[in-house]
Amino acid sequence: MKAEAIVPFFSTLAATNPRPQTELEYSSVFELLAAVLLSAQATDVGVNKATRELFARAPTPQAMLDLGEARVTELVRTIGLFRTKAKNLLATCRILVDQHGGQVPRTRDALQALPGVGRKTANVVLNVAFGEATMAVDTHVFRVSNRTGLAPGRNPLEVEAVLLKRVPPQYLVDAHHWLILHGRYVCQARAPRCGACAVQAWCDEGRRFAARAAATMRQGDRDGQA
Ligand code: SF4
Repeated sequence: MKAEAIVPFFSTLAATNPRPQTELEYSSVFELLAAVLLSAQATDVGVNKATRELFARAPTPQAMLDLGEARVTELVRTIGLFRTKAKNLLATCRILVDQHGGQVPRTRDALQALPGVGRKTANVVLNVAFGEATMAVDTHVFRVSNRTGLAPGRNPLEVEAVLLKRVPPQYLVDAHHWLILHGRYVCQARAPRCGACAVQAWCDEGRRFAARAAATMRQGDRDGQA
């Protein structure tokens, strides 16, 4: 993607969704952290189904510890890798209670020291809860960044670094949400909906799609004239 295309690309995404939000349900920073920790390789819809009851019963780290591993595991059993995630969630709660006064820490190092919390989860919490301009690169952000040519990279860390360099300051805080939602609903993995895509004009793959469509039209006209 050419540098001059980046502002129109984001301003178009911003116009279609001025206040993008995570689709995970939460009502506190702790619940956000827990929901993101549970969401690896799972859909937000599936996580929300499980966390509605989990958070009603255990809205704080201490309440989660009081609920106990067997009950927490039972409540998240519909989520992939639920046993490991339940263990990590409880180990994280133990550290939050013992070392952080029951609060979620605000630094990347402290977040990534929590069991089950990697760079992507820390980026989501820093961004969504604390308003920092971090880029959580999940499968959608990775795909859209590469397809559009906005931030090509061989792995999430490379894509994150390029995004932080190329995304204009006014779009930094919301950029990863726009990219996730665009990847989830328009630029889908198997069949990107280029013909219905609002940012096609600025996307590398979109321009190739438009050229192919134009060639098909010209061929159709020639066939019609023959
Ligand atoms: S034009 Fe196609 S490849 Fe580009 S962002 Fe839109 S859906 Fe994705």
